[in-house]
Amino acid sequence: MAEAHRTDVIVVGAGLAGLSAAHRLAAAGVDVTVLEAGPRPGGRVRTDSVDGFLVDNGLQHLATAYPQVAARLDLARLDLRSFAPGVQVAGDGPVAAVGRRGGGRRIGDVRRMRGAIGALRTPGNADRARVAAALGRASALPVPRILAAPDVAVAEAGWPPALRPLLTALLHDTELTSSRRFADLVLRSYLRGRAAVPALGMAAVPQQLAGALPSGTIRYGVRVTAIATDRVTTDVDGEIPTRAVIVATDPTTAVNLLPGLRRPAFRRLTTLWHIAPTAPPAEPVLIVDSDDPGPLTHTVVMSEVAPSYSPDRRALVCSTVLDHDGTDPGKLEIVVRERISAIYGAATRDWSHLATRHLPEALPVVEPGHNFRRPVRVLAGLYVCGDHRDSSSVQGALASGRRAARSALADLGALTAFAAGVRPGGGKAPAA
Ligand SMILES: Cc1cc2nc3c(=O)[nH]c(=O)nc-3n(C[C@H](O)[C@H](O)[C@H](O)COP(=O)(O)OP(=O)(O)OC[C@H]3O[C@@H](n4cnc5c(N)ncnc54)[C@H](O)[C@@H]3O)c2cc1C
Repeated sequence: MAEAHRTDVIVVGAGLAGLSAAHRLAAAGVDVTVLEAGPRPGGRVRTDSVDGFLVDNGLQHLATAYPQVAARLDLARLDLRSFAPGVQVAGDGPVAAVGRRGGGRRIGDVRRMRGAIGALRTPGNADRARVAAALGRASALPVPRILAAPDVAVAEAGWPPALRPLLTALLHDTELTSSRRFADLVLRSYLRGRAAVPALGMAAVPQQLAGALPSGTIRYGVRVTAIATDRVTTDVDGEIPTRAVIVATDPTTAVNLLPGLRRPAFRRLTTLWHIAPTAPPAEPVLIVDSDDPGPLTHTVVMSEVAPSYSPDRRALVCSTVLDHDGTDPGKLEIVVRERISAIYGAATRDWSHLATRHLPEALPVVEPGHNFRRPVRVLAGLYVCGDHRDSSSVQGALASGRRAARSALADLGALTAFAAGVRPGGGKAPAA
């Protein structure tokens, strides 16, 4: 066994949860190695360059109000490009009439909420005011109150029907069976901060976290096939001894490595990317579709949000389909193209289809009664993290990683040892 492979803690997987755990461990002076099966950090957060266009793994965004996002990332260095606040609800007519001339529904923009609540006294404005009041309440609710409130499915939570398209898009949930608490948490962050993407694509987020770890911490192209409290088995190096293991893989792999875990149900997401020779008339806002039962739930002109997503003046349009089974992608592309033509009020004959990303296990379902702090300690020396331990979000993945690292540090005695300036392996802890 190569000496370089000896390590205090092995983290399996360099997704956001694994990177977050590794950070906490490295900050405590622990010798940590991250083994990642793929060629890059980020897991489900990735960006590919396709013909010079930046193609994320889906219509992903960073909510800057998520506490872990604000605390762990250097947002200034990510060069964030923001979506316009709120969402645009597409109806029968093209959104251009909505965005530019105010002829349709724009909801979730906190700046416009006060006016809408004030409009309650005006006959005919009651619906608008009810939506504004519900959103105002959602943005103001403290997290402990959200988590203490009784939980039901979003569909039964008494939200104004006009909010359905927004909730469907944010929760990736057409039937709105998700936990009301989860909806409150997601909505709260969406309303209180910015929704944004890094100029270089969502992959810049894990790249920043990976780049801040000590050089050589992450080893790519190493798949872990079995684990124990004192070693992992890999496909390229055989057994690697260690003092503790944190499983930070996707949920299905975590269940295979740790058979006692429950496999969650998943939401399926399919995202289609189109190139338009010229930008369709739309603001850089998330457009949610109210066409029921439409093929897609939300769409955006990504190159309007972040011009750097396109290598030239052509526009990049990104559209999400929920719960597609992945069969006949050609037929799906035709149906989606028809609908986005109507939404943007643009002929799409000369648009070209750039890419489709189909993820059958995109997000673990967050059902009513969900425990947002599922145990991360399996037994002393064995830990698990990932969005399935907290919630299906960047916030959930980052938070779970820190919880798992803290638990491992406590068992290693590293929390107290580090405070005393002693490394768990016996050496001296580096200064802060
Ligand atoms: C299409 C899409 C859109 C999303 N949109 C948003 C959004 O807008 N806002 C938001 O907050 N969240 C969003 N999310 C959710 C968020 O991206 C995820 O919850 C989060 O990235 C999950 O991170 P993770 O570290 O838990 O898991 P993963 O990202 O799955 O990371 C697991 C890692 O483990 C590695 N691995 C697996 N098996 C092994 C093995 N045997 N050995 C070694 N390595 C292994 C994998 O290669 C991977 O790198 C979205 C997710 C998707 C898929």
